[in-house]
Amino acid sequence: MAGTNFATHEVSNQSPPFRDLNLFLTDAALQEAAKRERAAASHEELAAFGAAAGSAEAFELGRLANENQPRLRRFDQKGFSLDLVEFHPAYHEVMRRSCRAGLHCSTWEHLQGAEALPRDGVQVARLLCFYMTTQTEAGHLCPVTMTHAAVPTLRMQPEIADALLPRMLSRRYDERFRPHGEKAGITIGMGMTEKQGGTDVRANTTMARPAAAAGPGREYILVGHKWFLSAPMCDGFLMLAQAEGGLSCFFVPRFLPDGGVNPLRLQRLKDKLGNRSNASSEVELQGAHGWLIGEEGRGIATIIEMVTLTRLDCVVASAGQMRLALAQAVHHCRHRRVFQRHLVDQPLMAAVLADMALDVEAATLLAFRLARAFDEAASDEGAAAWRRLMTPVTKYWVCKIAPALGYEAMECLGGNGYVEEGLAARLYRELPLNAIWEGSGNVMCLDVLRVLAQDAAAVDSVLADLEGVSGGDRRVQAALRGLHNLLADRENLERQARHLVETLARTAAAALLRAHAPAAVAEAFIATRLDGGFRHTYGAGVAPADRRVLLDRALPALE
Ligand SMILES: Cc1cc2nc3c(=O)[nH]c(=O)nc-3n(C[C@H](O)[C@H](O)[C@H](O)COP(=O)(O)OP(=O)(O)OC[C@H]3O[C@@H](n4cnc5c(N)ncnc54)[C@H](O)[C@@H]3O)c2cc1C
Repeated sequence: MAGTNFATHEVSNQSPPFRDLNLFLTDAALQEAAKRERAAASHEELAAFGAAAGSAEAFELGRLANENQPRLRRFDQKGFSLDLVEFHPAYHEVMRRSCRAGLHCSTWEHLQGAEALPRDGVQVARLLCFYMTTQTEAGHLCPVTMTHAAVPTLRMQPEIADALLPRMLSRRYDERFRPHGEKAGITIGMGMTEKQGGTDVRANTTMARPAAAAGPGREYILVGHKWFLSAPMCDGFLMLAQAEGGLSCFFVPRFLPDGGVNPLRLQRLKDKLGNRSNASSEVELQGAHGWLIGEEGRGIATIIEMVTLTRLDCVVASAGQMRLALAQAVHHCRHRRVFQRHLVDQPLMAAVLADMALDVEAATLLAFRLARAFDEAASDEGAAAWRRLMTPVTKYWVCKIAPALGYEAMECLGGNGYVEEGLAARLYRELPLNAIWEGSGNVMCLDVLRVLAQDAAAVDSVLADLEGVSGGDRRVQAALRGLHNLLADRENLERQARHLVETLARTAAAALLRAHAPAAVAEAFIATRLDGGFRHTYGAGVAPADRRVLLDRALPALE
């Protein structure tokens, strides 16, 4: 057998490679989410996607795209500016596949066709595929997400949107560095963060002055910098800069209408902990041309929809990455024998895995409940309330619990987990990212406080919703009463904001699991996460009888 022919020993007791598995059909919670949240995609379509997403080839492309990091080429041999980033072919291939699947555009395709309205469940359908894709390659989903999220903001300036949408909504990936009008498909990025402030974008110092007349849709000249500009090979960016009327939003293309290159001077690429397939640059705007989207001074209001949609993708990506961490750990423990027994049959390991499975169930359920709220918010007040309140709540909780779960899954793999050839090390480096960008933890908590102050009806609506689905469970009811008490303590709201947001996330997960998950899952989650047994490390509290049910559900036995 290949690889066993050592003179000194035989290779044995290593778990078989974790690949060539259908990421949809091996994931019971995901299949249930597709049905429950009314995905606009059939079981067969999602199963076909899951097979491709979990193929050995897809995992290999993910490895290659991350081990061969993008490289910045600032100048050519003769000293002329290039400002190009070169990617490994594997990166272009994963981009090509995700664009072909419509991950950057499927939600908006009705805008181009005869259909006047989006189909129900388009957001859920897209995000199911996103959840699977992030498991094999996460970094390229940055420009995929940003392109998708840019659509509503661009549409606030219809003549600019009209020029861009046909190519943004194309399912063809075109990697060439060419003016967008010459390309088969384009991608869009986002430039908000500067050195002196990311969260506090009002501190932006990049200046914008009108090239001629001022006003929506007009051309401006931008001078300044962006400290984080991911996916700089995008064909254009939505950027914030200070105009005379205040912080404003601009569309800044890589090429100018006359075919010249817009002076976005890439200074260097960030040397990041993870997310290595994706390039994140520092850039100087040396008189770059940008076109105003919306009114001067309305920059935050203009770009907020892009930010909100990006937060949803962060939630789903973190849930998907947690799922991969768990599935790998369960797979390994089913094959690895220690002290003559498979790890999965060792009571202590079964307790750890089952406890992790509870958080993956909760994260997946909350993520897709939120996705449906995005699908329905335009026509349903309850969904709009869920979207407004539960976007920051879910982003806070799911993105924040993900790194700890990734670490525990790594430990389940033993020493192999800590080695770069496996998936666990790359995943571990990726996992903190979604909590940091697009609104870090505290910022999400402050956003929840903003909802309380500005839209108390949304909070009442969500709490009533949770009460309704809790099935009269006394522990969920008690948690809801606790939440009402926390909310009533106005004086201490900011100090207690993390406690409030975490409690709301766990209570929502508990209520939804009670309503939708198998009894063993709901019971174990409520008993450990609401009744106070959970101590931020995994392995305590799940009853032995429930462990087997949870693990069989988490991952069916693979060949
Ligand atoms: C890999 C990567 C890629 C990125 N790509 C992009 C990109 O393409 N475009 C872009 O615009 N940005 C990008 N960012 C930047 C990212 O969005 C910011 O780093 C993030 O918004 C935080 O801003 P900051 O770094 O300035 O931190 P700060 O704003 O200084 O925040 C630091 C900490 O303080 C906390 N904090 C802030 N305000 C308060 C408060 N009032 N009370 C309590 N705590 C508070 C925050 O939660 C955070 O934990 C990227 C970041 C990373 C890591």
